[in-house]
Amino acid sequence: MSRNEELFARAQRSIPGGVNSPVRAFRSVGGTPRFLSRAQGAYTWDADGKRYVDYVGSWGPAILGHAHPEVVEAVQRAAVDGLSFGAPTEREIEMAEALIALLPSMEMVRLVSSGTEATMSAIRLARGFTGRDAIIKFEGCYHGHADCLLVKAGSGLLTFGNPSSGGVPADFAKHTVVLDYNNAAQLEEVFAARGSEIAAVIIEPVAGNMNLVRPSQAYMDTLRALCTKHGAVLIFDEVMTGFRVGIKGVQGLYNITPDLTTLGKIIGGGMPVGAFGGRRDIMEKIAPLGAVYQAGTLSGSPVAVAAGLATLRLIQQPDFYETLTTRTTAFANGMAAAAQRHGQAFSAQAVGAMFGLYFSAQVPQSFADVMASDRERFNRFFHLMLDAGHYLAPSAFEAGFVSAAHTEADIAATIAAADQAFAQLG
Ligand code: PLP
Repeated sequence: MSRNEELFARAQRSIPGGVNSPVRAFRSVGGTPRFLSRAQGAYTWDADGKRYVDYVGSWGPAILGHAHPEVVEAVQRAAVDGLSFGAPTEREIEMAEALIALLPSMEMVRLVSSGTEATMSAIRLARGFTGRDAIIKFEGCYHGHADCLLVKAGSGLLTFGNPSSGGVPADFAKHTVVLDYNNAAQLEEVFAARGSEIAAVIIEPVAGNMNLVRPSQAYMDTLRALCTKHGAVLIFDEVMTGFRVGIKGVQGLYNITPDLTTLGKIIGGGMPVGAFGGRRDIMEKIAPLGAVYQAGTLSGSPVAVAAGLATLRLIQQPDFYETLTTRTTAFANGMAAAAQRHGQAFSAQAVGAMFGLYFSAQVPQSFADVMASDRERFNRFFHLMLDAGHYLAPSAFEAGFVSAAHTEADIAATIAAADQAFAQLG
């Protein structure tokens, strides 16, 4: 028995499914999850001492690579000064000011400790601001695990949703309308019928939780215009895309100003930090200024914020995103070319330092397209790559990430391994 297998067996006796977040359990791809003991730069090592070139990056935060020395040093220095105060600190102002400077749509910012808290709080705020209850989300987008967001589509376009998780009251889900991603006609229809009821639309403006799906510019323009026309708060959930697709997020790429933005992952540099922010008139409705309650014992943790600030400083170095985007695009193109050499129905794309690999001939434009890809083939490919020392996300429905620590040689090695894996897939 390998050490990974031993640990997995032991973990399952004390932790549900052996994991503290479901995707880590490898349920989708099968097999034994790797218990990681160490990570440095572009690499992780498992409990058996095997090294992987890592394309998960802690599900997004590790844009500088793992354990960047300047981030680690910032954490160490902050820790010595005290782990948590439950009182305001200057560092929190620096963080808010840095986010506001980088994302001009954010006029004010509140820090939290996870992406889930950020989206949950942004929705409560949007409801408090508009005095409306209904929200729109999109099939295939994930925004964390707040009750109102664990909802799947109802029976008809104009009906409200059903819970997608046990424990979510149908009465909560009934305030969430679930629509198809990247379908402007549907959005127009729902706003025409119920526009005055909609408090907010929340969207992953480039989706990374149904593999990688890019909406069209026309769709995003329509979304912005409809929210403005009907007085609904447009929430860009940039927990994954923020500082991942580029220094200005998807809002910069598409030149759209959301009313609220949620952030997480990269802004904590590997430590628990989330944030939500946006229009001043909306943000002023948050307690203690306004009537919408939101709080957190560890919000703005001095140690976590130190990691985030060091990360935000490093990603603003000249050419940081140019290099990273070039490398990620080369990775996606190299993977697609390798697949083509072996006659695989496969496609790939990159947006900034995010990529999608699809076992489908065309790059997907919607959740339905992603669902139509060949999952069984992905799962075999995943295991061949893992055995060869290349750690892709253990699900066909997740985007992947390249970090600044990935060298051209790392990427070439992964493409060479993929070439062999595609040959073996037959
Ligand atoms: N929003 C998006 C777009 C995400 O990808 C995630 C997590 O993957 C979340 C929200 C939830 O963030 P967290 O896992 O930090 O609660």
